[in-house]
Amino acid sequence: MNFKDYIRVIPDFPQAGISFKDITTLLNQGEVYRSAIDELKAMVQHLKIDVIAGPEARGFVVGAPLAYALGVGFTPIRKSGKLPYETIEVGYDLEYGKDKLAMHIDAIEKGQNVLIADDLLATGGTIATSVNLVRQLGGNVVGAAFMIELADLNGRDKLQDIDVFTLMNYE
Ligand code: IMP
Repeated sequence: MNFKDYIRVIPDFPQAGISFKDITTLLNQGEVYRSAIDELKAMVQHLKIDVIAGPEARGFVVGAPLAYALGVGFTPIRKSGKLPYETIEVGYDLEYGKDKLAMHIDAIEKGQNVLIADDLLATGGTIATSVNLVRQLGGNVVGAAFMIELADLNGRDKLQDIDVFTLMNYE
């Protein structure tokens, strides 16, 4: 299946110069969404994953069904102030803007193998921050899985010691 056929590209969103890859047009096609998750599952199932961690909000859309398919746990990585229990937080720069991400202090058990999942790898800031949070909690990051990679933004450079799995690549 050519997943790119189902991605809608929006120029200059959310600001001039950004070419936004809209995955909602893939998600609303049941068979295509399921194939995308199944294909990611096939790429990562050799890793001994205990938990998948996904940054809000589109990381939930990829990470949670992947966790279900693999029969492993899912833990959310959220914007500051959203999680109800005690958290750790790390600040980061986005492709457009700045933010902070947080996890519950007990979201990961020390030594657990964690796969990080999101919809899209751009500059890698979000995922590098997610890796930082998981490692601070004692998790062992075994890989990072995405539907889309924007290769020109060199996000992989921030993930040099981590295996990256993607379904689609945009130059
Ligand atoms: P990064 O931190 O620069 O790698 O940006 C990745 C994050 O920004 C992901 O959580 C994406 O959901 C979001 N993002 C950046 N660009 C796009 C895009 O073109 N489409 C969808 N999400 C994007």
